[in-house]
Amino acid sequence: MSEGDCLFCKIAKQEIPAQVVYEDDQLVAIKDIDPVAPVHILLIPKSHRASLNDCSEEDRKLLGDIQLAAVAVAKKLNIAEEGYRLLCNCGPAGGQAVMHVHYHLLGGRDLGWPPG
Ligand code: AMP
Ligand code: ZN
Repeated sequence: MSEGDCLFCKIAKQEIPAQVVYEDDQLVAIKDIDPVAPVHILLIPKSHRASLNDCSEEDRKLLGDIQLAAVAVAKKLNIAEEGYRLLCNCGPAGGQAVMHVHYHLLGGRDLGWPPG
């Protein structure tokens, strides 16, 4: 799939509507359209990489900044104290459906372990 056809590139460019809860120059955080927990946020970098496997040394800062943005969103949505889960599905066995790197921020209920 080319970047022009990528759903999350379109959402990041606001060509497709989404409920944005946080945005900065590198990423956008939106409410998941099909939430699996009371809080289910997607953190989506504005630049396209299909999966974590396509990230490189140049992405080190971006990947760290996504985690810090997730903490900021967790605090904003009042789940930081009780706890939450931040995860990235990678590839078919990892459950990745949209081939544009993104992290899920889940909270608002007790999350089971192991997942899947
Ligand atoms: P993954 O399985 O890790 O690729 O997660 C993709 C996520 O994107 C799923 O949780 C979907 O519910 C979510 N999703 C798909 N389309 C949209 C959309 N248009 N707006 C918000 N979330 C979406
Ligand atoms: Zn993309």
